[in-house]
Order: sequence, then C-alpha cells, then structure tokens
Amino acid sequence: MTIAVFEEEAADREQFQRAFREAVIQVVPEPLRQETAGAAANAEVLSVFVKSEVSKEVLKTFPKLRFIATRSTGYDHIDLAECAARGVVVSNVPSYGENSVAEHAFALILALSRKIFQSYERTERFRFNRDGLQGFDLLGKTLGVVGTGRIGRFAVKIGCAFGMHVLAYDAKPNAALAEEFGFSYVGTLDALLAASDVITIHAPYLPSTHHLINMDNIKKVKKGAILVNTARGALVDTAALVWALDQGILQGAGLDVLEEEGALYEEIELLSRGFPKDQDIATILRNHILIARDDVIITPHNAFNTTEALQRIVDTTIENIQAFLAGAPVNAVPTPGA
Ligand code: NAD
Repeated sequence: MTIAVFEEEAADREQFQRAFREAVIQVVPEPLRQETAGAAANAEVLSVFVKSEVSKEVLKTFPKLRFIATRSTGYDHIDLAECAARGVVVSNVPSYGENSVAEHAFALILALSRKIFQSYERTERFRFNRDGLQGFDLLGKTLGVVGTGRIGRFAVKIGCAFGMHVLAYDAKPNAALAEEFGFSYVGTLDALLAASDVITIHAPYLPSTHHLINMDNIKKVKKGAILVNTARGALVDTAALVWALDQGILQGAGLDVLEEEGALYEEIELLSRGFPKDQDIATILRNHILIARDDVIITPHNAFNTTEALQRIVDTTIENIQAFLAGAPVNAVPTPGA
C-alpha cells in the first residue's frame, strides 16, 4: 500500500513510517495540485494540508485512491462531491490547537497593549528612553470575544485570568459556558463593539460572516479599542479596518489572518501569472498599508503553529488512517447532500 503525504513537515515522515511499517510512505513537500499529483499517482491513501487543491481533475490522477486524511480542520480545499462519486472517504482533524490560537491572540494583544515591538526596535538600536512607549493594563479592561466556540472559550479563560471583564457575542450563546466561566453575553455585535477595550474574533468564516466587521459597525467601536483577528481575514472588511485606524477609532490591530492573504503570499508569482478576477487588488494594496503601519502587528497565519498543536495534528491523522484501514473510519467529514 502507498500512502502519499503532501505538504509535509520534515519531522512527520518518520512518524508516518513508524505507524505504517508495511506501507510505502511517499513524501511530497509541495501541496497537492495538478502539477504535483503525478509524483504519487499510485497512492491508495493521501494526506494533505490546506494549500493542496484536491479538485476533480487532481482526483483523476489517483485511480487507486480510497482515503484522504486532511491534516486540517477545514476541508474546503477538497472536492467532496467528487470524492463521494469515486467512493473516497475523507477524514479531518476536528480539533488540535484551540488553546494555541487563543494564546496567540493574547500574544498579539499584549504586544499591542505594551508596545513590545516599538520597545524592542528601540533597544536593538541601543536606545533606552521610554518616550512614546506607554502602554495600558489589561486588568479591569473589557474584553469582547466574538464567537465562544472551541478557541473563543480559551480566549475567555485567559481574559478572566488577566482580571478582564469579559463580554461575548455568539450567534448561538452558550448559557452553561457563561455560568461556568463567569462572563456575560451581549445581545448584539454592536453592543460588544461599543463596550470592549479589546476585541478578539473567533467566529468561523461563512457567507453569513463575510465582513462581520464592516464600514457600518466599525463606527460603533469604543474609541481607542484594539482589534485582534486570528480567525479568517475576510471576517473583517480591510477597507473599514484601515479607515478606523486612520480615524483613531481603533488604536491598534493584531492580525494573524488577512483578506486575500493567499494572493499576498504569492505576489511575485501573481505578477507574472496575472491576477485572477476574484482576487481584490484593492484589498491587497490595503494589506500593504496595514503592514507598513506601526499600530498594526501582522503574523503569517501562524496562530496554530506550536510543537504541541502540530503533534496533535499528526497523531489524529495517523489515527484517522489506521481507523480507515481497520474498516471503521473516524472523523469522516459529511458527504455533501447526505
Ligand atoms: P468553533 O466552530 O468551535 O466556534 C465558532 C463559534 O463562532 C461558535 O460558537 C459559533 O456559534 C460562533 N459563531 C458563528 N457565527 C457567528 C456570528 N455570526 N457571530 C458570532 N459568533 C458566531 O470554531 P473554532 O474552532 O473556535 O475556530 C474559530 C475560527 O478560528 C475558525 O473559523 C478558524 O477559521 C479559525 N482558526 C484559525 C487558526 C489560525 O491558525 N489562525 C487556527 C485554527 C482555527
């Protein structure tokens, strides 16, 4: 049996080989795409990550394929209808880094509230004065958590540990969670924006949450608040964000995710290939403006990237493949229309 592992972290290879001693483990460092698929056409099992594009065309390359273990929670990079038509089962990793992402949100919050980057840049130049480096305490401030699912609840916990007054907004409030952790839900997003000194977003990206923070409601944000987004870039309208920073409505932003971040990462390639229509060039330009600003900290979609979270991903992926091979798949993602 051949198991092909695409977009592989160097350290994972050994773990796959140890778990599947009888199998041929074929490792391809690049994402699975039309151009790379031929490298492992014999595979019965594929493991991929989020940059792979498991389209109908790509799936045609694998006549023996029976199972795909994506090492991510999301599976919008896989054509599930085509998988179902071909009898290919798909499993995901439902959870691996809830605390990791919430901890990263707080890394961004603290970096902004204590001007860590400005301080660091100054001492790097052997300057030790404190002009312009005054920050603010988190103790006693109001933290607004948007989305109290797996990650959001860790953000609530960490906020409580800092002595913050925690408010939350969720499309489906969880009264038992609020009672257990000691925070309150507000009835509308506007109410949360108006009351919070620090806003952290942990809602999913869906058609209904596109530009959840937008030109209309960003005006309601409490003056001088900071906004942190570790969820998905398009939850925040980039134009509204730049405007609110310019107006001083927001005093800063911490972003692990950007709208059109994929296009930003591949800018040099895009220049030679041409911009696909659905990528918004204005948003890419605004991302450049955000990157250049001193009051904005951007990290490269790195919130999940801890040793522990990555190990949880590999462990669950191996368990998913073992369960499938034993005839009892776990973490199988629903077939469209089922
Ligand atoms: P989850 O599904 O457990 O929780 C999401 C919560 O958001 C739910 O409670 C849901 O009811 C709520 N919600 C849905 N629509 C809402 C709306 N319109 N307004 C407010 N709340 C709403 O998801 P999770 O595991 O906590 O992940 C949250 C997001 O974090 C994911 O969408 C994912 O995109 C992102 N994420 C980012 C990274 C990273 O590395 N930056 C890693 C993992 C996940």
